[in-house]
Amino acid sequence: MQFYSLGNPEYKTSFRQAVITGIAPDRSLFFPEYIPVFPKGFFETISEKDTIEIAFEGIKDFVGDEIPKEKLKAILEQVLDFDFPLVSIEEKVSTLELFHGPTMAFKDVGARFMANCLGYFSEGERQEVTVLVATSGDTGGAVANGFLGVEGVNVVILYPSGKVSEIQEKQLTTLGQNITALEVTGTFDDCQHMVKTAFLDTTITQKRKLTSANSINVARWLPQMFYYLIACQKFQGNLEDIVFSIPSGNFGNICAGMVAQRMGMPVKHFIAATNVNDVVPRFMKNNNYEPKPSIATISNAMDVGDPSNFVRIQKLYQNDFELLSEHLSSYSFTDEVTRKAMKHLYTNENYIADPHGAVGYLGIQSFREKHPEKHGIFLETAHPVKFLDVVQDTLNIEPEVPKQIANILHKPKHAIPVSNYEGLKAFLMEN
Ligand SMILES: *Cc1c(COP(=O)(O)O)cnc(C)c1O
Repeated sequence: MQFYSLGNPEYKTSFRQAVITGIAPDRSLFFPEYIPVFPKGFFETISEKDTIEIAFEGIKDFVGDEIPKEKLKAILEQVLDFDFPLVSIEEKVSTLELFHGPTMAFKDVGARFMANCLGYFSEGERQEVTVLVATSGDTGGAVANGFLGVEGVNVVILYPSGKVSEIQEKQLTTLGQNITALEVTGTFDDCQHMVKTAFLDTTITQKRKLTSANSINVARWLPQMFYYLIACQKFQGNLEDIVFSIPSGNFGNICAGMVAQRMGMPVKHFIAATNVNDVVPRFMKNNNYEPKPSIATISNAMDVGDPSNFVRIQKLYQNDFELLSEHLSSYSFTDEVTRKAMKHLYTNENYIADPHGAVGYLGIQSFREKHPEKHGIFLETAHPVKFLDVVQDTLNIEPEVPKQIANILHKPKHAIPVSNYEGLKAFLMEN
């Protein structure tokens, strides 16, 4: 399959090149030239199918023959080697827990898949690839973990000093090997700005092959469709009754689900649940896309003022607002309401939700006011200990620290301090 640039449809490239470069030369996102469909009857027997077979069927046409079939299956075995439980919360509400991977955030699947693809494409190449990524918390840990030990690939992660949680910092700075953490004096926006500048700096790009590892990259974005397919595999009931609610920031996760729907998944509707960063909820009201600077919230992985993947959703629907409205609802929730939902879930349903999952739960509550016959599944995108302060403070409890996290807390931190762009440039030129 070819991928084309959303800014210039004439420009097409292979899956391999789309993964290696991350973004088209005109700085636009890549989009698949067509959306494949599942074989007839696929979903009627999905509950009897093996998870790897399901994932393989979903991704294989996008990858084409650029990774041999057996190798692709081996990659999927490695990527999906943990559980995705579908947990019942209350009548007609369940959650699909996506946080049982190595860094306890749902980004593990995309990061691992991309790392494996890039590792495969780098075999036999003389020049190493450098993955350069800015993180406000979760992305960095998942990327560091996914790429650890992948030959031919170096990872450089920029994070804002003092602005990520202790757990998140340990996940970035204790791995070593091909992972380097740069501790930046500044904010996440400063980190992101430095990364963007480096991509445009020909002195650097002549020396190093740079790529990014955020959900702009097709190899991080598309495998997120597996979650929706796994939910269908596990759901007991009519798949047409399902409505998915996705806590959304950059809208990569939900967009992958909407691709699965276009491929034939019988689920009819999606809910994009956001915090007060509400560009998309406002767009779904007035058909006017108006980005804004991001606002800090307790669900900070969704503090995005101009979601980068929304153009892909628009493309999927050919900018047909009416049609999109049939398949997508979107609601925004304040921190206060989110905390209330966390308390409700804990007190009444004995479930500890992290703030992102709680926003997803609220999305279902809003939607079911008018559609009580639907069965809502919200995606729980992070383990509650990843947002420990908020959970402790809201629920007055000490959640148990799982072993993946406990294992790294005592390891020493290694980070290189960087105070400005020149510091980043010097690092990239000298190492
Ligand atoms: C990244 C992230 C999100 C948002 O996902 P998008 O694909 O960017 O919409 C939601 N929850 C958590 C915990 C995250 O880390």
